[in-house]
Amino acid sequence: MTPLIEARDLVRIYQIRRGLFGRPTPVRAVDGVSLQVMPGETLGIVGESGSGKSTLGRMLLGIDDPQEGSIRFQGQPMPARHTAQWRALRARMQLVFQDPLAALDRRVTIGNQIGEPLEIHRLIPREHQGARVTELIRAVGLRPDQADRYPHELSGGQRQRVVIARALASRPKLIVCDEPVSALDVSIQAQVINMMRDLQESNGIAMVFISHDLKVVRNIADRVAVMYLGRVVEEASSDAIFRAPQHPYTKALVSSVPVPGKPLQGRVILQGEPPNPASRPSGCAFHPRCPLARDICRFTVPELLDIGEGRTAACHVVAGETTPVAA
Ligand code: SF4
Repeated sequence: MTPLIEARDLVRIYQIRRGLFGRPTPVRAVDGVSLQVMPGETLGIVGESGSGKSTLGRMLLGIDDPQEGSIRFQGQPMPARHTAQWRALRARMQLVFQDPLAALDRRVTIGNQIGEPLEIHRLIPREHQGARVTELIRAVGLRPDQADRYPHELSGGQRQRVVIARALASRPKLIVCDEPVSALDVSIQAQVINMMRDLQESNGIAMVFISHDLKVVRNIADRVAVMYLGRVVEEASSDAIFRAPQHPYTKALVSSVPVPGKPLQGRVILQGEPPNPASRPSGCAFHPRCPLARDICRFTVPELLDIGEGRTAACHVVAGETTPVAA
């Protein structure tokens, strides 16, 4: 089957200036990432702040251009930005991000905002748009009479439902969700995640679900890619990642996720500073914080290798390139 979206060796570099007169320093926010998402599949992308996951999401949507690498959508190269083909494709790929209030226009009723994509992309005849807006409002668990409300009259969870309804209006093939529930209360998070999962299944939409919160990702992703300082360090099915993580960084992340009804056991506390993309350590970027680090890790970047059972990992020890030393 052809992947819905396929990225190869994506690189995105930003120039960061330290201080007003400092010289610009190149920062590789995304550094050679390859991945694919199949139709109807949900790929979770996890990692701490600064891991490059949001930049990756923007490149997958064609909002940011990679400096190196390529993206194909349904087997075809991503068209150049702002062309007619790109605009047509963008209707098929939607973004839902963290702050629904920033995504919505405070002066426009939610009904009109949900209907906007139908109008802009001329997706259905005008006389049918009202019925489609009502259908979308119901689909995300709101009441049709709320169509006349303004964003500030709704709760945070309801606003995010409006953003999701608007994303669904153009019947997208792919939705990139960037921390879509992290601004919501925990009880509301679960409701919105369940709703997203139901909508995704019933509409056959593929999702890229970006989050620093592994509990949320576990509830929605079919596969998970773990990112650290711009690179994927492990990728596997969601079940494999949470049942038996292999990369030391994935192990640390997974060990901090509570399992309902069980005490948190064997938590791995990461040492050292969180990742700073502006000062990437040599070799394996994780080595200053890694409990298994050895000499090779300081000098040689581990490749992302197939380690069996549909799983890849970038670690000298996991891939068996060095013999683990008993602690
Ligand atoms: Fe740790 Fe070395 Fe593996 Fe990096 S390559 S994760 S430092 S053991």
